[in-house]
Amino acid sequence: MNKQLFKYYLNIFLLLAFIFSPIFAFSWGTTGHRVIGEIAQRHLTKKAQKELRDLIGMESLSLWANWADFIKSDTTHTWDHASKWHYVNIPGDLTREDFMKSLQNLNAENLYSQIKDLTAQLKDKSLPIEKRQIALRFLIHFVGDLHQPLHVGREADQGGNKIAVSWFDKSTNLHSVWDNSLVEFQQFSYTEYASNLDIASNNDIKKWQESTLEDWFYDSYTLANKVYASIPEDGKLGYKYNYIFKADLDQQLLKGGIRLAQLLNEALK
Ligand SMILES: [Zn+2]
Repeated sequence: MNKQLFKYYLNIFLLLAFIFSPIFAFSWGTTGHRVIGEIAQRHLTKKAQKELRDLIGMESLSLWANWADFIKSDTTHTWDHASKWHYVNIPGDLTREDFMKSLQNLNAENLYSQIKDLTAQLKDKSLPIEKRQIALRFLIHFVGDLHQPLHVGREADQGGNKIAVSWFDKSTNLHSVWDNSLVEFQQFSYTEYASNLDIASNNDIKKWQESTLEDWFYDSYTLANKVYASIPEDGKLGYKYNYIFKADLDQQLLKGGIRLAQLLNEALK
């Protein structure tokens, strides 16, 4: 291969490596959000299915599951104000009572205030359809975000974004491990993952669906406290970390799907 051709291929390689490297911490990578959308889709009531057809036709929930992250790259900056809607920051290790107080007293727009707002918009049939479609797209994503424990994390480290760790010797941060690495490590497509998880008993489903939005946040917060307490001193995460958290990860994805269905069934009845 001559030198110029080599350089050409090298540039292509570097470009691809750049595109596919997880530089930006989003939220559950595309797979995690789609798993939640897919599970929710399977638990919609007939009525909600019909209402959704009127809103988005035959498009699936998982199709829209990552839209709220994609718009962060919109060059018109239309949605810049929405970037703080993806998380809440709460101090660590609070009692349930203090947690609830903190959640209610958060100022500025945040994941909790927006889920409530957007749910009201989705319900409100007097609003233009475009507005309700946007509310729906955000909700599909945000119910997912709220089940990623580090979206209910601590302000000082920006929900783990500032906690440097390695994942199988590759440098990254704790937030990104939870968004992407752990989910991708399972090596399922989103539909395979959804099918494997979607075997909860009716009892469990009923229990999860009786819980409130505030309970969902507290669930994630409790897990976040465990995540913060389980960072090894050398920051090296790999097989052992997966072993410790695999069941929690699966539960969060499953609960996220079941609860998203609950929220939509309720809003579109
Ligand atoms: Zn997000």
